[in-house]
Amino acid sequence: MPMKLTFNPAPINPLFYETQVSDWNSWNWQIRNALKTKEQFEKAFTLKDSEAAAFDNKNFQIQVTPYYASLASDHPEDPIRKILMPQEKELKVTYQQMLDPLGEKNNNPSPRIIHRYPDRLLFLVTDYCSVYCRYCTRKHFTGKEQVFPKADEYQDGLDYIRKHTGIREVILSGGDPLTLSDQRLLQVVKDLRQIEHVEIIRIGTRMPVVCPMRISESLVSELKKYGPIYFMLHFNHPKEITKEARDAVSLLVDNGMPCFNQMVLLNGVNNDASIVQALSRRLLYLRVKPYYMFQCDPSEGTDHLRTSVEDSLQIQKDLWGNLSGLAMPNLSLDIPNGGGKTSYVPNFETFKDNNIRSYVGWDGISADYISPLASEIKKPIDVSEYQAEWDSLKNAKLNSFQSGEFSDKGFQEIISE
Ligand code: SF4
Repeated sequence: MPMKLTFNPAPINPLFYETQVSDWNSWNWQIRNALKTKEQFEKAFTLKDSEAAAFDNKNFQIQVTPYYASLASDHPEDPIRKILMPQEKELKVTYQQMLDPLGEKNNNPSPRIIHRYPDRLLFLVTDYCSVYCRYCTRKHFTGKEQVFPKADEYQDGLDYIRKHTGIREVILSGGDPLTLSDQRLLQVVKDLRQIEHVEIIRIGTRMPVVCPMRISESLVSELKKYGPIYFMLHFNHPKEITKEARDAVSLLVDNGMPCFNQMVLLNGVNNDASIVQALSRRLLYLRVKPYYMFQCDPSEGTDHLRTSVEDSLQIQKDLWGNLSGLAMPNLSLDIPNGGGKTSYVPNFETFKDNNIRSYVGWDGISADYISPLASEIKKPIDVSEYQAEWDSLKNAKLNSFQSGEFSDKGFQEIISE
């Protein structure tokens, strides 16, 4: 009998048994009642000494929605608990710890803009999250109580995007953009849509995972007016895909907002091929494309949650061929200090000579691939038609194309001409 994919409803956290269902299903209530202090955590979990001691750690905020806390069991090795529970180990440097592992401060031309790649940038619209994940990569910014940008910082960010006419994609990030009110979030999206060259808006959020009641019909019906909007979700474990999360994701996809998932491989949480396949297949079934499987960044306080590159490569190799290509996330590592992403693909090549390459596939089958000779390779006749667009993309960050023919045209305008 083939196994059926299962999606269970999230239990109500015992701490909140007396709560009205309407309150529990309100995202504002979830945030107002988030667990922050040791005393609040103690009512939901039996804290080990090493966990209790971590509450004195002022390095990184501690907060979890009652909904997300209810997904964790009291077992110290429970995967969800490991994501949300502070540990004394966060204060210890064992291998490598960086406050800004992605070197974002070197690509920070305006207080709320991170501009690393040519034609796309991050707009940090809040530093607030409803849950502070212990492995967070952006601890240099998140949870510093800055929330929505000050009026001048916000305008500065918009001006930067407006002036840099090569920017095609704006990724709303933070913190979690979906912790902003509908009104604020829609204003940001509306303001971005006034900028002609912005083609794609992405919203990076963990709210469908940690507070799925945030995704309401009224919000998505407004957001879809400003598409194309892509959602970059952040599920790490199949236990996070509850009925509530599934309903939230369906609302997004049904309303024309494509969803992608970026997971982080975490030691003792999800670093096994069986767990990654379970997560990926469920996501794919919900029409969420498993996009990235990240090596955890060496952010401060994360040594105990990071797994090794070797472990990640083995997971990828185990999945390769067994999991469909659609369900397979790309294994990727962000090179510390801002070197960008490096992706891994298992190497099945065993031999190479001139135009012949030999392979042994994941299933043990070996064969040669014989290429046409280099002298027979020619480029398409219409390359010149796309050259200006390609040059503008490569130079987008330098802004050196401003006076060029392509400079002020977004892709949308070009295809509608
Ligand atoms: S939701 Fe994202 S930004 Fe916020 S703490 Fe978690 S990983 Fe960091």
